[in-house]
Amino acid sequence: SAPPTAPAAEHRGQTSDGHPVALLANIGCAAELTGVAVEGVGLFRTELLFQHHIDPPTLAEQVQEYAQVFAAMPDRQVIVRTLDAGSDKPLPFLREHDEPNPALGIRGLRVARRRGDILRTQISAIAAAARESRARVAVMAPMVTTVAEAAEFTALCRDAGLPTVGVMIEVPAAAVRAAEILQTVDFLSVGTNDLSQYAFAADRRSGELADLLDPWQPALLSLIALCAAAGVAVGRPVGVCGEAAADPAFAVVLTGLGVTSLSMSPTAIPAVRAALAAHTVEECRAAAQQALAAGDPATARAAVTRI
Ligand code: PEP
Ligand code: MG
Repeated sequence: SAPPTAPAAEHRGQTSDGHPVALLANIGCAAELTGVAVEGVGLFRTELLFQHHIDPPTLAEQVQEYAQVFAAMPDRQVIVRTLDAGSDKPLPFLREHDEPNPALGIRGLRVARRRGDILRTQISAIAAAARESRARVAVMAPMVTTVAEAAEFTALCRDAGLPTVGVMIEVPAAAVRAAEILQTVDFLSVGTNDLSQYAFAADRRSGELADLLDPWQPALLSLIALCAAAGVAVGRPVGVCGEAAADPAFAVVLTGLGVTSLSMSPTAIPAVRAALAAHTVEECRAAAQQALAAGDPATARAAVTRI
């Protein structure tokens, strides 16, 4: 395979006055990193590796998969998300029988209530692969809802020897308690796809409800702002890894809110990098204030494009 491509200084995300915002990749497997120069991986969706498996992947099988991604990112950050099974990402070995509302059921970290063994094996595999690599490996859980869940997940990961632990903010209950959750974890990563779905009670796959799922909706911005402010207050990283991070104008707003990294499909990174490089951090903050003050998505978007 091709040797890893190191990101040159010009590949790093920053505002025109040098305020850094890491621009990271969302990936599902190592092949997606071939030939791309990225600062790191902000969301490694591990469930995509095993979506056709009838039986749970073994420890050895997982170590091998994770090691391939880590090998492509020497000295760079890789945030591994533990299995996000259920709802829109069913896994054959974790089928839930007949849930009436799968999006509100046993999915993401909640699977560990029934199958703690699967989570523990995965965490051991990530830790084993990390020990043998030069990547800066971090781990995070999907669909975290309470402080207690975050604390329990963190303890499990630290016991396994993983020093950097975070959680995704995808549930409004977690967003409003971001400050409390940040007392138990090292970082947050906002998943705007699910946060929109749950905040607006609108199925993320419904084209008919696209207006509600618009990331420029003021209520979504308010929830992200809460998370970012919680991170700024204690000096801990808060990233955004949902599709919204790939919108260049929205990335400017997120930067102004205090978000420290943006993770997206690698092909979206150049346009976001260019948008950040065209503004000072003060301009980003002004854009964020205008967007937050707007009454609807169109007004928010228009206010920002004027900056
Ligand atoms: C999200 O929900 O925004 C997210 C990044 O996770 P996924 O799209 O994999 O659910
Ligand atoms: Mg999600």
